[in-house]
Amino acid sequence: MNTIFNHQQVPLLAEVDILVIGAGSAGCVAALAAAGQGTEVSVMLVERYGFPGGTSTQMLDTFYGFFTPGNVPRKIAGGWPDRIVNELERTGDIFLRPNTYGAGTGVNYNPERLKLVWDQLIQQQGIRYLLHTTLIDVTLDGERHGCIFWNKGGFHKVLARRVIDASGDADFCHLAGFAYELAGEHEPAQSMTTTFRMSNVALDEYEQAGGKKMLARQMQEAVATGRHPLPRKEGSAHEMNARNCISTVAVKVAGLSALNAEELTNAEVEGRRQAFVYEDFFRSEVPGFAQSNIIGLSHQIGVRETRRVYGEHRLTKDECLAGLLPDDRIFLCGAPIEDHRQGADGQDETYWEYIPGPGVYGVPYGTIVPKGSQTVWVVGRCFSATHDAHASCRSMAQTMSMGQAAGLAAVQSIRQNEAANTLNVQPLQQTLRQLGAVLDVPDAVADTSRHGWKNNVPDSLLKRSQTA
Ligand SMILES: Cc1cc2nc3c(=O)[nH]c(=O)nc-3n(C[C@H](O)[C@H](O)[C@H](O)COP(=O)(O)OP(=O)(O)OC[C@H]3O[C@@H](n4cnc5c(N)ncnc54)[C@H](O)[C@@H]3O)c2cc1C
Repeated sequence: MNTIFNHQQVPLLAEVDILVIGAGSAGCVAALAAAGQGTEVSVMLVERYGFPGGTSTQMLDTFYGFFTPGNVPRKIAGGWPDRIVNELERTGDIFLRPNTYGAGTGVNYNPERLKLVWDQLIQQQGIRYLLHTTLIDVTLDGERHGCIFWNKGGFHKVLARRVIDASGDADFCHLAGFAYELAGEHEPAQSMTTTFRMSNVALDEYEQAGGKKMLARQMQEAVATGRHPLPRKEGSAHEMNARNCISTVAVKVAGLSALNAEELTNAEVEGRRQAFVYEDFFRSEVPGFAQSNIIGLSHQIGVRETRRVYGEHRLTKDECLAGLLPDDRIFLCGAPIEDHRQGADGQDETYWEYIPGPGVYGVPYGTIVPKGSQTVWVVGRCFSATHDAHASCRSMAQTMSMGQAAGLAAVQSIRQNEAANTLNVQPLQQTLRQLGAVLDVPDAVADTSRHGWKNNVPDSLLKRSQTA
């Protein structure tokens, strides 16, 4: 651990049992799951931006990973992740996007409503919640972690008995000296994407002209004829939870590091430039878009991977493809490997590889415990996995499920005085099941084609989710 601060001089802001760093999908659920276990354990959640959700609200509008892809989808995530969706469903802010290929059926939501849902659940659970506050340094203070944060009020110290690193970039683990692999160290890092939204789209006209398939053809042609220098020919555009609006995952910025501020600046600039190249293309080439324009860019460029911590267990591609269900599994995943990478010709390429058989594997507890850690967990896109395994196990139903397991594990470790790396996983699994987490491969879901969450979820799972 290499600290630049004289920690004694930094004013103490709080002493807490569990500190969660980063309020993305993984961090919010980690804090909620921990706080939901009882008020004798104090929980604090700190976030550098002014709103919760991380990638889930900065740039996206679809939870993937609740269902396996294919013609016989299975619902494989539950508990707190269900509760988030149920909250969105209560106000009519979700619909399902049935999809047998790609990542499978998506749960589309209104990201602005999701910010409110995160805020309200966090407050209801009595979590100490601090926005606009960034972790910048870490030290050990006796048996507690001394975490230094910066915000407009200056430097502040929080002492915590347990820490859950949900910063996406493993900032806590980096500062605390845990080992990690940098994206790009072995395989090319996944590219970054500025997402954008367009309004005033004539969706009927778009669908009648051929929808997605037509769009793919138009992109190929626009590049082949040189009419539009699109950086990626396979971008997607989908209907949003707002009338006549679409959201895209099309921009592609490769070869720059999101951990280097100068490179990240260049990535932000390039991402915005590309978004408007796409706007030109949509308006002039795609039926239904003539009168549309960009109404929003993602809050920041979307970062798929930076640091992946070396954990007590490292999830590998072979484990995913073998569909292993290890005894110490804490959640399931069925998403294909979806690697947004640069092809050999320098062109864009997204590599897909599906999980065979029932299309599901279990993820071991050790993937959320940094190697040798007694009091720290790491969740979300910086958990312990190889590049390929990470490319499968990074959808938000899974990042929320990791957060859920870590929040519960942190509470158990305090109550039972257990270390993170030797924690008894059976009681953890029992609590997970009680909350509605799915640890056993369920039957296929009969019909995900109708819009609406409750309509598409087997009653048994729905009932379990309501007890969460
Ligand atoms: C372009 C793109 C498209 C994707 N499409 C989909 C999709 O359609 N569906 C899907 O399910 N998944 C998708 N994914 C994957 C998925 O969104 C992410 O893997 C997941 O959201 C990561 O969640 P997280 O909580 O681990 O990290 P993040 O969402 O990155 O959250 C980390 C949080 O920590 C905060 N933070 C960071 N550093 C600090 C610090 N030092 N101090 C305090 N706070 C800090 C951040 O501000 C952020 O709020 C996509 C990813 C990208 C990039």
